[in-house]
Amino acid sequence: AKESHRNQYEFFTPIMSAQASERLTVELELRKALERNELLLMYQPQLEFKTGRVTGVEALVRWLHPKRGMVSPADFIPLAEETGIIIPLGEWVLRTACLQNKAWQNSGFAPMRIAVNLSAYQFKQANIVQVVADILKETKLDPVYLELEITESVAMQNAEQVIVTLEGLKSLGIQVSIDDFGTGYSSLSYLRNFPIDRLKIDRSFINDITSVQGESTIAASIIAMAQSLKLEVIAEGVETEVQFEFLKSKGCTEMQGYFFSKPLLMEDMTGRLVSMRES
Ligand code: C2E
Ligand code: CA
Ligand code: CA
Ligand code: CA
Repeated sequence: AKESHRNQYEFFTPIMSAQASERLTVELELRKALERNELLLMYQPQLEFKTGRVTGVEALVRWLHPKRGMVSPADFIPLAEETGIIIPLGEWVLRTACLQNKAWQNSGFAPMRIAVNLSAYQFKQANIVQVVADILKETKLDPVYLELEITESVAMQNAEQVIVTLEGLKSLGIQVSIDDFGTGYSSLSYLRNFPIDRLKIDRSFINDITSVQGESTIAASIIAMAQSLKLEVIAEGVETEVQFEFLKSKGCTEMQGYFFSKPLLMEDMTGRLVSMRES
């Protein structure tokens, strides 16, 4: 009792730094954001080089704050992870993304994947496979149209445990990609044991591509590595025609980036699907 009294005292002490109090405010607001429906998803299309078709979209969360406007995930995902809010938040993202993809399919658009970012904290949850299974069942989305993105840094911790979880997820029939690939220095022999579908080349390596002829770039070696492992490979953060042509010439499977489209509000993504169907 003495302890808790002390904590309470510290909690209300006026010498608590402005930064800590700001943080606490944001934490409380973030907890309420879910109930108040202040989160939304934006959708960024992924284009297949071979056919020019949109084969997937990545769901990217935003917080539409009543006073601060649109808040980017970089400004609240870390706090959501530290406080555990990422668990209900991540489930909301997954459910919303699956529902939206199912809704597009029900509207008659050509089926495509929806890619959802999975935080390390979600991935490490003992019941993650069951959580994903339940959401698939609830939303009736065909599992082949769900892709989970886990970062290379997550994949590199405790390989045995990671493989068990990945096998559980893959047994649901979903797809898995390794996000921010190339930043974690994982090797070809390491990756060979992973039940994954796709490598996603980190934006920083795409940024390095400045000419179509290309010196031997990291992006080119990742593409070659993916091919030798029979994995698909997608480039993120493609902004220029030079980057687009380079990746295409190297045999990259898909691309995502401002060159083709920025992340779109749901209505705008739907509009895009309509115009592609008509063209
Ligand atoms: P990420 O998974 O690497 O997502 C790609 C980020 O690059 C997105 O930023 C996207 O808007 C941005 N981007 C896309 N194309 C381009 C381009 O051509 N040029 C440039 N400069 N940027 C581009 P965003 O939406 O701000 O998301 C930032 C990060 O927040 C994501 O990085 C991801 O790690 C995290 N995140 C987003 N949504 C979620 C979520 O639902 N759950 C979790 N756990 N993390 C999320
Ligand atoms: Ca991602
Ligand atoms: Ca990424
Ligand atoms: Ca990245």
